[in-house]
Order: sequence, then C-alpha cells, then structure tokens
Amino acid sequence: MTNLVTNVADSVESTPDAPAIVFDGETTTYERFWERAGRFAQALTDCGIGADDRVGIYLPNLPQFVTAFHGTLRAGGIVVPMNPQYKAREIGHLLGDSGAKAVVSLADNVPEVREVLEETDVEQIVSVGGDADGATAFEDFLADESLDVVDREDDDIAVQPYTSGTTGTPKGVLLSHDNLAWTAKANADLIGGIEPEDKMIGTLPLFHIYGMSVVMNGGLFNGASYYPVPEWDAENVMNLIEDERITIMFGVPAMFNDMINQPDAGEYDLSSLRFVNSGGSSLPLEVLAQFEERFGVTLYEGYGLTETSPTTHANAPDARRKGSIGQPFDGMDAKVVDEDFEEVPRVEEGPVDEGEVDLNEITGEIVISGPNVMQGYYGLPEANEEVFTEADGKTWFHTGDVGYWDEDDFFYVVDREKHMIVTGGYNVYPREIEELLFEHEDVADTAVVGVPDDRRGETVKALIVPTPDAEATPEDIKEYCLEHLAAYKHPREVEFVDELPRTTTGKVQKFKISDEE
Ligand code: AMP
Repeated sequence: MTNLVTNVADSVESTPDAPAIVFDGETTTYERFWERAGRFAQALTDCGIGADDRVGIYLPNLPQFVTAFHGTLRAGGIVVPMNPQYKAREIGHLLGDSGAKAVVSLADNVPEVREVLEETDVEQIVSVGGDADGATAFEDFLADESLDVVDREDDDIAVQPYTSGTTGTPKGVLLSHDNLAWTAKANADLIGGIEPEDKMIGTLPLFHIYGMSVVMNGGLFNGASYYPVPEWDAENVMNLIEDERITIMFGVPAMFNDMINQPDAGEYDLSSLRFVNSGGSSLPLEVLAQFEERFGVTLYEGYGLTETSPTTHANAPDARRKGSIGQPFDGMDAKVVDEDFEEVPRVEEGPVDEGEVDLNEITGEIVISGPNVMQGYYGLPEANEEVFTEADGKTWFHTGDVGYWDEDDFFYVVDREKHMIVTGGYNVYPREIEELLFEHEDVADTAVVGVPDDRRGETVKALIVPTPDAEATPEDIKEYCLEHLAAYKHPREVEFVDELPRTTTGKVQKFKISDEE
C-alpha cells in the first residue's frame, strides 16, 4: 500500500494502545489519535471540504498538527503546511495561491489570517491554544463522530508544501500519497526498520517536508512514538533525549552545532540514540567529528529537497563515507550531468581534496529520477519546464546543486549552484571556505557569501559568530584563510556577528547577507 492514510491505519490496527504522540508528559495512544483525526475529518466534511480541497496548517510542532494533518488526508484533502513564524503577507501568498478553504492556526496568529482573508478562499479558521475572534476552537471543531477514510489513489496529491524560499517567491510543490509513502519507507529501510519501541524526536518543523515526512510519518507508519518539539532549544532537547531515552533523531547541522557548543555538552548521556541523521544543508566535517567525540553517537548525513519528498541520498550503517551525502536510495536514479546533460566522469573514491583538484572538471548538477520526485509545481508550467528534462525514457528533476560522484556511487555536494561566487573570473564555492573556518577554534558558526566588488565583479565575504572566549580579529581570520587557501578564495571581508539569519530548517538565508536575489 502506498497511501499515507492506510499506512497509519495499519499501525492503529496492530498497536492501538501504543503511544503515537508524546507531548509535555502526555501520551496519546494510536487508537485515540486516530479517533481524533477521524473527528477532524468529519468536521471538514461537514463544512463541505473534501477531495482535493486544501487545508492550511499554520502551527508549530504540536499534537494538533498531527491530528489535523491526518484528519485532512482522511477527508481526501490536501495539506498546505505553513511556517508559524510567517506574517500575514507571507501566509496571504500561500493561502491565496493554494486556494485553501480552511486554516488551522495558533489562536495568537488568527489575526494574521484574518488580515488576508479577503485575498483567499478560506471559509473556516480553527484555533489552537485558546479562542480567537472569527475562529472555532480546535476541540469545539471536532465532530462527534469519526469519518471513514475517503479513498485516494496513489498519485493523488497529499501535501502541497512551499519551498523554503531562501530566495525568490515560494512555489507550491505537489507531492502525492505515493511520493511520501515511498520515501518514508525508504528512510525506515535505511536503518533496518523503525520499530514500535522506537522514539522519534520531532525537532524538525512539521511544516517542512523533512520533519513531516521523515520524522512524523516515518514514526507513525511503523507504530513508533513521535515527540513533537515546538521550539528548538539545545538544552531542553538534550534533556528530553536523556530522560525519555529517545532512539532516533533527524536534524540539521545547525542543531548539531548547537548541541556540541553547549558548555556542559559532555555531561549528557545520549547513548539511547541508535540512529542520528543530519540533512537540509551540508554537515561541516568539524561538526560531525566533534558530535561523535562528545556524545559517542554516529552522525550520518543524508540529502534531499522538498521536491523529492525529501530524501534521495543517505549514508547508512553499512555504507558510509564521511563528507558524502551517501548513496541514492534503491529504486530511484541519480547522476551528475554537465550543461549538455552528459554524465560527468566519476572520481575513483571521494571525498576529493578540493584544494588539489579542478572542481570544474569533476562537478556538474545532481539530477534525480524516481518515485520520490514531485508531480510538479502548482500552477507554474514555466517553472516545471525549467526543472524537468526527459532523457533515456525517464523524467529527470534538476536539483540546482553542484556535486560530484565516485565509483561506489557515493555523491558529494559542493554547493548550491546559485551560491557560487565568481571573483576576478575564478569560481569559488562558499562551502569550501566555511569548512575551513569551522576548523578555527574561535569560530562557532559561519557563512560565506559573495558581495559586489567594482574590480572583481564579486568578492568573498565571511560572516563569523565567534565563540564566547574568541581572541582572533578579522585580520587574523583573513591571514588564516590565506595560509590554507589559494589567494583568490580568501575572504577579503570578514565581519563578526552575534548570529546568522537562518530558516527554521537550518539554512543560512544568504540573500539576506549578500545582494543575491
Ligand atoms: P529544501 O527544499 O528546503 O529541503 O532544501 C533543499 C536543499 O537543501 C537542497 O537543494 C540542497 O541545496 C540543500 N541540502 C539538503 N541536504 C543537504 C546536504 N546533506 N548537503 C548539502 N546541501 C543539502
């Protein structure tokens, strides 16, 4: 079965009394969660919301997100997840573009929804965490009866997340039941299966595909417990892992970096973690090494995009190469191609030493084909033309990531295509400089960008969050880079900052610190 709803229904049948959601010390069993999702589905049906209608979920990680998510699918609807930090203007675009008919929102955020109501088709607002003018409180909204599941085909759309939009206007990504169910299963297989005894910590936001698909659905499809965490706080999360004996964690590099930078990091016992994965952006080797040393837990890296549901590549207990995003999942295809869509030759064994190889000769764009690739962007035929190529009887999706591959099918991401800096005619990939800066003892966090320069077109700039007892000056940092890198790559500008602008999924919003559009 590749339908999202039937996958969860199977868990309900086999482990009705097992904890599905554990939040704030309270446990919701599978049976109770399923009954509440059914009552949410019935309530939607009572409002005339059914097959293919969109429902916006504008919530942090809370049990109600999970209920509304599976309730919407049970009613045959499509979930449009929305970042709870968004303001009226941003959700106005998502609600208007998707044509959502209902929204589930934090009571405090209901005014943001009401501000843009006229630009949307929203007829029903449901509030969580209190009453709000113009909204029905979540518990009052639930119908008395549970709705049976509305049948859906595998290729019917289940969710329509909007790409994180570190640049440009967010686009709605159409993901089918099969896209998501396939990926959740592939992720579970990777670690030899997720079991009902497993406890998955939900630190990744549910409005992003990584937290929604890999963590929440990965857990619920397999009868495991899901622990939603509404807000990232390294200390709280490490306490929760220790106290609850959490077994599986998926996160982003910024989270792992935060964990190792806690002053008393070494005192936590995180040995219950049997699998930890980092994705969403490149995992600096220094962060990986320190995490493993501090906690004695292996940190695997994986890779994917919203458009691929998300995971396409991962390292696994039996196949791992540090610095690599891993091998593609079985059952899908990935390759690295040049501008003519010809395969770029593989290196023998990666990762290569970027200082010693001409990256232009071994890199290309990573392209993907398989059951995890989206059905397309919603209502954007031109964008679809740009990202899909038909070749060898397959449809290939262009990731926009520059990388290379080796003879054992391990892939390596060099950087995003659009982050490449061209300075004085040379190509510079920020990631290489960021890796070096992470090795400097005074650097807690960093991002490298290109800034306009009259003479060179662009010049390299490093933003650095120093460690609390840092002594290095910006000049020292420049010297350090000059010592280890070709001169044209070294940051001519270095700025110390208190923090970097990051999305909740850990990506640095580089357009905010450079002039990138
Ligand atoms: P999103 O659609 O928000 O999931 O972002 C997808 C993008 O995240 C990819 O195109 C990559 O640029 C980046 N990404 C995800 N995982 C990794 C990784 N392990 N290494 C480098 N970049 C990554």
